[in-house]
Amino acid sequence: MSLQSEIGKRRTFAIISHPDAGKTTITEKLILLGQLIQVAGTVKGKKHDKAATSDWMSLEKERGISVTSSVMQFPYNGRVVNLLDTPGHEDFSEDTYRTLTAVDSALMVIDGAKGVEDRTIKLMNVCRLRDTPIIGFVNKMDRDIRDPIELLDEIEEVLGIAAAPINWPMGMGREFKGVYNLYTDTLHVFQPGKGSVIADDIRINGLESDEAKALLDDEYDNFLDEIELVRGASHEFDLEAYLAGQQTPVFFGTALSNFGVREMLDDFVQWAPAPLDREVEQASEARIIPAKDETFSGFVFKIQANMDPKHRDRIAFMRVCSGEYSKGMKMRHVRIGKDVKIADAVSFLAGDRELVEQAVSGDIIGLHNHGTIQIGDTFTEGDEFKFTGIPHFAPELFRRIRLADPLKSKQLQKGLQQLSEEGSTQVFMPQKNSDLIVGAVGMLQFDVVVYRLKDEYKVDAIYEPVNIHTARWVECDDPKAFEEFKRKCADNLAIDGGGHLTYLAPTRVNLALAEERHPEVRFRATREH
Ligand code: GDP
Repeated sequence: MSLQSEIGKRRTFAIISHPDAGKTTITEKLILLGQLIQVAGTVKGKKHDKAATSDWMSLEKERGISVTSSVMQFPYNGRVVNLLDTPGHEDFSEDTYRTLTAVDSALMVIDGAKGVEDRTIKLMNVCRLRDTPIIGFVNKMDRDIRDPIELLDEIEEVLGIAAAPINWPMGMGREFKGVYNLYTDTLHVFQPGKGSVIADDIRINGLESDEAKALLDDEYDNFLDEIELVRGASHEFDLEAYLAGQQTPVFFGTALSNFGVREMLDDFVQWAPAPLDREVEQASEARIIPAKDETFSGFVFKIQANMDPKHRDRIAFMRVCSGEYSKGMKMRHVRIGKDVKIADAVSFLAGDRELVEQAVSGDIIGLHNHGTIQIGDTFTEGDEFKFTGIPHFAPELFRRIRLADPLKSKQLQKGLQQLSEEGSTQVFMPQKNSDLIVGAVGMLQFDVVVYRLKDEYKVDAIYEPVNIHTARWVECDDPKAFEEFKRKCADNLAIDGGGHLTYLAPTRVNLALAEERHPEVRFRATREH
């Protein structure tokens, strides 16, 4: 099989949704359809599950949130699907943001009873930055949901994207009879109560058929009217508009009853884009790396420490953007200018880690990280370009972290450093004292850090308030001016976990003054490699 056609089979996507809309449930069903696991229900939860990626998931359970994030690969209808999970809680939105830079399309799950919710709006805005194509799935048809026409209107108005229904629900809640495909003129009959197995696929051809009349019974005439209305009032599906991120095809179903997911997946693997070409920067010039280029390249969008209690290590998740990885190959780690031989990259078949022999453009592989890899790093087969658009955001909340047992300070520093590599918290070491400052974008991350320090590094730590309002990464092209700045502002400077010089401002006014006094210095709120 040629490399080109292997790449052409890849469909790499993430699910965007508001918490509780059914992302986890639909993920289970998708994997089930990929037939890698025979019984659904192993993606999230139970402690000894193969797919329970870390023991800090117990924190996740206590909080009822999903803080883990992983990658699942499964074959489907001649395609290879890569599903990148994103944390649902908004304190982890940075992580989600970066994950969305690593996909080619997204699946938007909407709770039919609730409609378009906050978090979906935010994620949709992130997708819009890159015109990511989005397929919509209105979930929970087995419940009394809102009027489907109203839901489509809401998607169009609130999300600002045209909506094209692909199928239409026949009733809802207890009266839910299935979905009618507007394009194939087929009725898919609902099979209730078969959550953990794939229900028989019962189809009726033709809305005009006697079977259709029998199924819809009293509701038949009403349904005909409704379909006429829907056809007249909604957008027709347009593949080009979908691929341009301007239109979302919408499916109705119920993930819990495993109904409608297959219909969606069937079309998804046909329509969703194969790996897209990506922009890089080389010698300050922008250029495009075609996804089907034969030479290997990729970038790291996520780092996770101690993913698996059995393998206490750190994994850097790399999106392969061109060519192929083969076991034992030499890669250039562009930022540090070194060639490294990689023989033990892992893949994520249905959440299970396996050594990967080969991976192609569109796939995600995991590299073992011993501290040299950072989020945003580019790897190539010798080329000197780097992928752009993978940001770090300056934290907005700060705490001084202190040890209950002072003898463990080495462990604490190591733990903080490793956790900050994941990118959702930052650690800062001020130059004027030996404090350790933790910076985060959301409050919950502070709890996660203390929990994980104890759980993974056996360190008891506590927080104290600290007078920092914001942090800025600083750079300057003029060495003399930079030295002057460093001398004058020594009390405010710190080194972050990645070794970057940072200005810690106690107040907004202080930052404004520093910027005014040192116009040659750039104060950055985001950092890109
Ligand atoms: P997530 O937070 O988006 O991952 O949502 P989950 O998949 O954990 O689902 C949230 C809740 O909704 C769970 O109790 C699910 O069992 C339930 N749920 C998911 N899909 C459906 C569905 O199609 N119908 C019904 N009635 N409940 C569902």
